[in-house]
Formats: sequence, C-alpha cells, structure tokens
Amino acid sequence: MVLPAEAYLTTTRVPLPKARPAEAPQAPEAEPAEKPGQSAGKPAAEAKPPEPPPPSACRVALTDDIAIAPSIPDIKGPGACGGPDMVRLEAVVLADKTRVSLKPAATMRCAMATAVADWVRTDMAGLAGSLKTKLVELDNFDSFSCRGRNRQQGAKLSEHGRANALDIRGLKLANGETVALTERTTPRDLREKVLLSLCSRFPTVLGPGSDGYHEDHIHFDLAERRGNYRICQWDVWDAWPQVAPLMPVPRPAEAPPREVAAKEGAPAEARLAEQPAEAQAEPDKEQAEEAKPEEPKAKPGQKKAKAKKPRKQRAQVPFPLNLLR
Ligand SMILES: [Zn+2]
Repeated sequence: MVLPAEAYLTTTRVPLPKARPAEAPQAPEAEPAEKPGQSAGKPAAEAKPPEPPPPSACRVALTDDIAIAPSIPDIKGPGACGGPDMVRLEAVVLADKTRVSLKPAATMRCAMATAVADWVRTDMAGLAGSLKTKLVELDNFDSFSCRGRNRQQGAKLSEHGRANALDIRGLKLANGETVALTERTTPRDLREKVLLSLCSRFPTVLGPGSDGYHEDHIHFDLAERRGNYRICQWDVWDAWPQVAPLMPVPRPAEAPPREVAAKEGAPAEARLAEQPAEAQAEPDKEQAEEAKPEEPKAKPGQKKAKAKKPRKQRAQVPFPLNLLR
C-alpha cells in the first residue's frame, strides 16, 4: 500500500485515510486529498470511525467549471465490477462556459471523467473551432457496464466493468452536423485528428479494424498495463473502398461453366466460334483430305478435334452458309 503524500506533510499525527484500492486510478495521489486543518490534531488511535471519507483529489479538482459530474455511490460488484470515486458525467464545461452534453450521461470513475473532460475541452473543442463551429454533444454509446470484453461471457473483465471506459460514435456540432467517427463519409482528416488525440491521451483506443467488435464505435479507456503498454488500433478507412471496384461481377448462376464448354459436351459450333475466321472458311473437302495425312503428326489432344469438326459442321450447316454464322 502506498501512503498518501499528506501523511508525511503534516507534523501532527492524523487519521489515515481509507486504504486505497489497488485498482484505483493514480492521478489523485499527486495532490493532497484533504485540507490539513480538517483532521489535524486527532490522534490516529482515537479517530472516530464513521465519518465519510474526504473527497478525493480528483473529486476536488473536477469542479463545475470543468464538468457537470455529480458524485454517485461507489459501485461494488457483482464480482470485480464497479469501483470507487464514481461520478455521473452529464456534460463537459468548456472554457467559455458552454456545455458539451453526454447523451445519455455516462457513469465512470472520477479519473476517467477528468480524462474525458480534458480531451473534450482541449482537443475536441479545438477541432470544432477549426470547423468554424462548436461541439455540443457526445453520444455515449456505453460507459459503465458489468461485462466481459466485447460482451463475451467468461472473457476478462472489460474496462467498462471497471468504470474506466467510454464508447462513442460521433461528435455533434452546433451547426447541426455530426462527425461520425467510423463513417467513411466523414472527412478522413477529421477522423485522423480524433484518432491522434485519443491515442495520445488514453492507453487503449479501439476502432474499426481492431478486432471486429468496434466497427461502429470508438472505445477508449484508462487501462493500466505493465510498462505503460498502449493499444491504439483504429484503421481510418479511405472515403471509398479500394477493393470494391476491383471485384469481378458475380457470374450468373445460369451461365455455363467456361472451362467445360471449351472442352467437351459442347456443340461443334461453339468450338468453331473460338477458331480464327480463316480456319472456319476452309472448304470442307480440303479440310477432310488434309486431316488424314496429318493425323500421325498431330498432337494427341488435337487429333480427334480436327477430324470431327468438319464432319459435324457439314451435317448441320452446309458450305458456304457456315461463313455467315
Ligand atoms: Zn467499449
């Protein structure tokens, strides 16, 4: 367990704050969580137990100037789901006091709400400004949700279960337009800017092309991994697919198989049609007479075909009518 910094800063003995859960976010440790005057002077051994824990540093820092995010009770379970220091993020408040609503309000830990607010206030507000408009809404596709990864039963607990994740699909602008993050119709450079900003701020970002579960939304979370390993997987597809125009038109079901038609079982005319016009124009007699002496020299595969073709042609289409075909 790591003792908070304030335990060392005060000269008098103070009651130790509630033990910090192992999975709690790191950010609050950077700042004192309580005012020194609040609890100074009370010996630790005599501390009266049932006082609500002081607000976390995160909670203190996440003011109404930054976000409308009232605290809600800790979520404990089922299983490993939930967490402490929970808020309901209703809106991010921009520097000019206008609000960017989360629709619906998102349930998450204070640290995640702070990260989302910073991202919106800094990067996304700036992106909307570059489009000569303002950001007004984020669609909350999913926030806290006690479930396995990708909604798979038995899978490792999703960061959604730890209230450390948010899924969104688009950014709604004041001019009525929506920056749909996974749509090819959204200008590619806009989607790339959102990708770069998210991946620079959140250790996990998953979108189209990542694992098949994020084709219609973007997931980002605050998962902590060994060595600060980060995952940024979001293929920003081109406006128009490169592959589709190269796809051949499907062969109709009723079409005869090409290979078979050329070899056997097909009418003689079909085979003749594939031959050069000169060959078809040869008089029957000549063909028939020449075919015989050539037989020994001809390749085995061609032998029968040469001998048969004129005969069938003669039976069906008398010369010179075959020239008209
Ligand atoms: Zn997600």
